[in-house]
Order: sequence, then structure tokens, then C-alpha cells
Amino acid sequence: MKNLSGIILAISLGLSCFNSVMAENSIVEGKAAEDSVIIDSGLSFSKAMAGTKAPREIVDSMAIVDVRYYSTDGKLHQGQLIVNNAVIDDVRAIFGLIEKMKFPIYKAVPIVKYNWSDDASMEDNNTSAFNYRFIAGTKRLSNHSSGRAIDINPYFNPVIYADGRVSPRGAKYDKNATGVFTKDSPIVKEFIKRGWRWGGNFKSFKDYHHFDKAK
Ligand SMILES: [Zn+2]
Repeated sequence: MKNLSGIILAISLGLSCFNSVMAENSIVEGKAAEDSVIIDSGLSFSKAMAGTKAPREIVDSMAIVDVRYYSTDGKLHQGQLIVNNAVIDDVRAIFGLIEKMKFPIYKAVPIVKYNWSDDASMEDNNTSAFNYRFIAGTKRLSNHSSGRAIDINPYFNPVIYADGRVSPRGAKYDKNATGVFTKDSPIVKEFIKRGWRWGGNFKSFKDYHHFDKAK
């Protein structure tokens, strides 16, 4: 009898385990079906800041913001941006508009995933904000260093220098293509309304993917 009760206990334990696994699975599936958001990035703040050279006071003024957008596959995605606390409201409002308009964002993944390489991130058409770095070709800190600048779809919206060089390499600026900014884009207008600059309005060169809001 002792053995039998042990077997019954084992069977009932097994069953209750099985039940709880089933229940968890159906919850996960239900959630996925309801939301169907593709997660491009789901990092913690500390993981997203790992290895940055930024001083403590700069790190302390940053936050990680989850943003949603339709990518070029037409599906809803969730990515993340590291931005200065002072611009969180602007970023949330602008990405709200981006989602509503279904303006395609290829992907938005914190640049730690590219070992803090702006070139690698741009070549991958990745949208990003904070990166403690100099302005390309200078020794001046970029507004990205304080999380007050965002680069959106850099491969679709490259930098074009006065001498005709294009960055990222191989990219073309085609005003009529999808995910591309022009001065008439509602997203560009929304940034400007909120006190941001757009790199497409720079005089000496054009930085079509760049938006910033200095202090
Ligand atoms: Zn930029």
C-alpha cells in the first residue's frame, strides 16, 4: 500500500505539473495572438549601456524608451532608443505619430549591439539615439553623446557631403522611396515644431537621417 500511494502521489504531481505548463502555454499564445508585436530589442538599461565611455553624470541622465513602429515587412515591431530624460516626451509623441502613420522604421536597436560603431549601425539601416562619440571626422562631441540626437533609417536617409561623398557607403537618397524624409514629411515637421533641428536643413552638408535638440 505504501508503494501504491507513492505512485498515486507521483501521478497527481505529474498531472498538476502538466496542467500548469498547459495553462502557461495558452496564456503565452493568447498574448502573442492579441499583440503580435515582433520584438527587435528588449534590453535592460544596464545591458543597453554596457561598455559606453560616457561619464557617470551622462549615463544617469539617460533612459531607455520602448518604441513601436511598422517595419519594411509591414508588421508591427517593438524596438528601443536610449535618450536623454529631457526629450522622452518628444520621442514618445513622435514615435506615436510614426506608428499611427505606419511610416516604416527598419529597426531600432541600441547601438551597444553594434559594439558602439556608428558606421556598423548606419550600414544596417538601424535607428538609434545615444552614443558617446565625436561628430564624424572631428574631435567635437556629437549631440548623440547626450542622448539629444536621433538617427532614423540612415541607409534610406544618408549623409551627403559637399564633395559628393555619401555615408553610409553605397546608400542613395531617393526622395520618392519609402521611409525617406523630405522637408514636407509630417515627421520632419513634427520634430521641428517641437524645437528639433533636421540634418536635411544643414547648409554645408546634408544629414537626412539626423534630428537633434540641443540644450
Ligand atoms: Zn546623427
